[in-house]
Amino acid sequence: MSRPVTLLENQLLRTRQQVLQLVTISYLLYTVVSSLISAPGAFPEAYQYGKYWADLICLAALIAVQITPRRVTMIASVSYIALIPIMILEMERLLRRGLVPYDSALWMTCGIALAFVLMGSRLGTWFTNSLLLLVLGMLILIQPATPSLAAAWFTGMVVVGVMSGVCYTVTRFIESNLVMHEQDHAKLKAARLDSLTGVPGRAAIEEELNRGLEYARKTGTPLSLLVGDIDHFKTVNDHHGHNTGDDVLRAVAKRLRRNVGGTGGTVGRWGGEEFVVLLPGLAKPDALVLAERLRREISDSQLAGLIITTSFGVASYRGPNDTADQLFGRADQALYEAKRAGRNSVR
Ligand code: GH3
Ligand code: MG
Ligand code: MG
Repeated sequence: MSRPVTLLENQLLRTRQQVLQLVTISYLLYTVVSSLISAPGAFPEAYQYGKYWADLICLAALIAVQITPRRVTMIASVSYIALIPIMILEMERLLRRGLVPYDSALWMTCGIALAFVLMGSRLGTWFTNSLLLLVLGMLILIQPATPSLAAAWFTGMVVVGVMSGVCYTVTRFIESNLVMHEQDHAKLKAARLDSLTGVPGRAAIEEELNRGLEYARKTGTPLSLLVGDIDHFKTVNDHHGHNTGDDVLRAVAKRLRRNVGGTGGTVGRWGGEEFVVLLPGLAKPDALVLAERLRREISDSQLAGLIITTSFGVASYRGPNDTADQLFGRADQALYEAKRAGRNSVR
């Protein structure tokens, strides 16, 4: 997966899975019950056999969505395509027998609403338009035998057309609202800054990292991550008080930001006295050079009236299978090594 799936997308997927399950199970039950009421072949309506083929498709879709629930939209699309030849055969038989398509018309109308729910407005429109064209083509090829039959088919087409227009409008409305909601949410999250230092907090940084990873995967450009930790910060608090400790945190954040600014990187506070620097476009050698510069910048002058040193761990994006967690893990491990090597160093 090239992009982290948002909460909203997950909810949409779950809704679609539930709808697909509900409909396929209902249809399977319907065919069983309707066969008990009126066995296929008992009447001239031998066309009922078509619904057993549709049954098979429903069953396949039901099994497929259990196996790969995330592919629900694709499963629905394939099922719809598989239903087309059945529909053509069914329609041909109906027209040749001079029958009014009562139950298939009802299911078709239901299917149209479902196409929009399961596949969204674009694919939904595509499917319903194709369906209407198909029906129209069949009606031209095999003209209904009587005016009343023609009228019944005409009614069916109008209902399907109206239904599809309504579904399109409603689905578009929902989709655009969902997108707006998601954008607002992203902005709010990105705006969540750490109140002490004014740099992005953990949530915002995580989001930024995921965005950076997505971009790196898409474009193959490098991405590096620095994790910096103030050395012996506990003694700063112990000897100079918590307020001075806070001043040091603010000063370190400011120093980091000033030196990272030009690189297009982002400084964030991961928590406590730990900072992260996201460096899109920077490969490991350059990231190590920058980390070394940051380390020196901090240790070479006084911050809040104190000599402060920091240790840095550096890690870089390794390829499409690399995750945010793995990247962080490697940067953390490097930081641990820098601490073990005596602090005030970069690894
Ligand atoms: P090391 O060199 O191994 O990193 O040692 P350290 O003392 O820096 O690390 P340790 O994890 O032992 O201590 C971190 C301290 O940071 C403990 C905690 O009280 C302090 N701290 C965390 N958040 C804040 C904060 O917001 N303000 C202040 N003043 N101190 C904080
Ligand atoms: Mg520390
Ligand atoms: Mg720490």
